Amino acid sequence: MAQGSIAWKPAQIPNLSENENKLLLERLCQYSLANGLVMYPPGFNLANADIAPVTLFPTPFPKDLFEQAKNVQNTFSRLYALVVSHQKNWLLDLSKDLAVFDKDFTGMLYETHIKAVELCGSKLPQTLSLGLFRSDYMFDEQTHSIKQIEFNTVSVSFGGLSSKVGRLHDYLNKSGTYDSHGLYYGNEIPVSNSIKELSLGLARANEEYALRSTDSSSKPVVLFIVQDKERNCFDQRHIEYSLLEDHGAKSYRCTLEAVKDFTYVKDTKIYIKSSDEEVGVVYFRSGYSPADYESDPELTWGNRLYIETTKAIKCPSLLTQLSGTKKVQQALTDKALILSFMPDLQGVELEGLLDTFVKIYPFDNSKDGQLAKKLAFESPEKFVLKPQREGGGNNIYKDNIPGFLNSISESEWGAYILMELINPPTYENKILRLGQVLTEGILLELGIFGTILFDEETGEVLHCENAGHLLRSKVSSSDEGGVAAGFGCLDNVFLQ
Ligand code: ADP
Ligand code: MG
Repeated sequence: MAQGSIAWKPAQIPNLSENENKLLLERLCQYSLANGLVMYPPGFNLANADIAPVTLFPTPFPKDLFEQAKNVQNTFSRLYALVVSHQKNWLLDLSKDLAVFDKDFTGMLYETHIKAVELCGSKLPQTLSLGLFRSDYMFDEQTHSIKQIEFNTVSVSFGGLSSKVGRLHDYLNKSGTYDSHGLYYGNEIPVSNSIKELSLGLARANEEYALRSTDSSSKPVVLFIVQDKERNCFDQRHIEYSLLEDHGAKSYRCTLEAVKDFTYVKDTKIYIKSSDEEVGVVYFRSGYSPADYESDPELTWGNRLYIETTKAIKCPSLLTQLSGTKKVQQALTDKALILSFMPDLQGVELEGLLDTFVKIYPFDNSKDGQLAKKLAFESPEKFVLKPQREGGGNNIYKDNIPGFLNSISESEWGAYILMELINPPTYENKILRLGQVLTEGILLELGIFGTILFDEETGEVLHCENAGHLLRSKVSSSDEGGVAAGFGCLDNVFLQ
């Protein structure tokens, strides 16, 4: 680790003349539109998309820490796969406890899993499971380390657009747009291979499904479960195009509400109604938050159950989704617990993992839980309080914590975890958002993608790969950084 080394100093963004700025904007906009670095605006019609919010320049990020984040990814993926396979009872017990506090969501995920197992006579028809994961970090300047914000096991986004923003910045650099005399950023702008790697993960699962279960000669297809009127659909489409182009695998899209209209099941196999094609993989880009079930809870949870009881490989299964709760993340910051799950983990592999943790407290009756209840009121400015939710906009920050806790019954506190705040440095960059260029102080959040195909019964791992990276920047005045939610933008690392 570079801890204690001379302070890392980020390079400044280039100082461009008015004419150079004009050229930069023209090239950036046209490259983005030409290459699908786009999103639909609210209330869109099919034919008109906007350029996704992007930074004009890549933002400096320490090279050693970027490498560390990549190096620990496969260990994280294996750890979460182990939780689902060899530590299933531990995961189920923990989820059951959470279900008491959070009946409507974590409770439903848990119950739907239990129901699916019951319906299938104690064993689900498909034990293979696909994880497209993303581990998110912030850079802590004081300790020169990366600290994990969360580990996502469901519907991770921006693998598609991340490759595109990488190529955009690389193009601007190589075309001399940042510096007419040469490469301003040298060759230190890595382009994320997330489109290819995520589609490879899906294709690998689809092929394994075909090898093991199908008796038809045609190739199975991938079914994307998507939100209605998804504004970020281009991010998903890039993966679909790669599936077809690179692997000859067709894909279909339908909402959670429409699953039973769109498909039928025969002998536990699921087929597309309109074409009778067999589905090898069901890939959820919806179903990760309570809002995805709200339109008609009976129908949507019923459809989730219907999918879970089929032979298709789920990305993710309900169990794998449950392994991504904040509560599991909190429990897995305990070295002794990790070692009891992965006894062979040692040396740099183990240290690299542990080094990414900040303190996370449970909010229960344990000793740590008691301490959390004290700290939340005595020094809330050091913490963020998180419920078991995904998708942004759910956390409670700093001085809002005590008031929030007082506003709910103490019996509900167990649904939350209390996490130390990471304090990333602020950089200056320019952001293009809805046609306007803003000069902003930004904070960075680095995500590393990982794919894993594993057996939930035996723990066997058939495919485990790094799958590229994502850099999101958020305006430093906002606590949250969701790009789709509107506070953040897509960026890429300039390694130095
Ligand atoms: P979600 O599941 O809603 O994405 P996250 O845990 O990723 O929840 O939190 C949302 C955002 O809140 C993050 O993207 C980050 O900007 C901020 N955040 C979360 N945890 C921390 C932390 N420990 N320190 C600083 N910022 C944090
Ligand atoms: Mg997040």
